[in-house]
Amino acid sequence: MIFVGSLVLLLIGAYFINEEEIIITTPTTTTSTTLIERKPIKIFVSTNELPQGDTLVVIAENLKTGQKITGEFDHKSFDFLPTETEGKLIGIIGIDVRKTPGDYLLKVLIDGEEKLIRQLAEKITITKGDFYVTKFVLTPELEKQGYTQSNIVQNIQTNDGVLIYQVLDKYTPEPYFNKSFIYPLDSIIKVGDFGTTRKEGDITLRHLGVDLDAPVGTLIYAINDGVVKFTKDLITYGKTIIIDHGFGIYSLYLHLSEFKVVVGDKVSRGEVIGLSGSTGYSLGPHLHLSIKANGASVDPLRFIDAVNTAF
Ligand SMILES: [Zn+2]
Repeated sequence: MIFVGSLVLLLIGAYFINEEEIIITTPTTTTSTTLIERKPIKIFVSTNELPQGDTLVVIAENLKTGQKITGEFDHKSFDFLPTETEGKLIGIIGIDVRKTPGDYLLKVLIDGEEKLIRQLAEKITITKGDFYVTKFVLTPELEKQGYTQSNIVQNIQTNDGVLIYQVLDKYTPEPYFNKSFIYPLDSIIKVGDFGTTRKEGDITLRHLGVDLDAPVGTLIYAINDGVVKFTKDLITYGKTIIIDHGFGIYSLYLHLSEFKVVVGDKVSRGEVIGLSGSTGYSLGPHLHLSIKANGASVDPLRFIDAVNTAF
């Protein structure tokens, strides 16, 4: 992976640890002497400024075995995900769609021998997201089924949302994935933006995922390795699957017509988990995809792009 353009190398000169250090080891199995070059640790952030609902990525390279790296954003700690590349770890920070715009502090801590050997701090600016308000639409069909704007919102607050957050509230400290994410459908055509507010009179509903075009019966893929934590037919969200990817990352797939997995299943990236549909409060067949990153509601397509850039 080449880091260009928007990726920022933090404090490049000051942050090289043991710069150009070369250690000499004497292998026990051979008689020759091996030279191992210790490359300096590099820390990158994906950007210093990003809007609400976006995802910030911190990349650490050339970490040595035994070195621990942790981070803190806005005084909340986050962990670094090991990747398939030795010594390379990734920190993923979801910026909630409702995060107050302003400057926040990002810290990276590297602990070599159970003591802090370096501390890095960086200012990250969160800007206001470009979200708009749409009409809170109901089709005659949905009205016939008894859906109203007020009972949709009420149902989310008292039933669907409660059931979902019982799952999302749990933090699985170990990651189930170590690779980039994929899209949940073969073809990605956006039919509903992330972050919009649907409004009818005083009643509002925030759209915390993205709607993707998908005729009924389209194959839906797990966006990464994980464990199925939830499969239920909900009143507003319809048939819903939640996959825990570990590390506080969850993906949610709504309005399905059919489940192909059950709770407890371990799924691999790209595995078919269900078929798309139009169940629950849905204006037509589509897939609603949501991603939660440590409790933050983030734009799923931006999340996938931002995280994949790091791999
Ligand atoms: Zn949606």
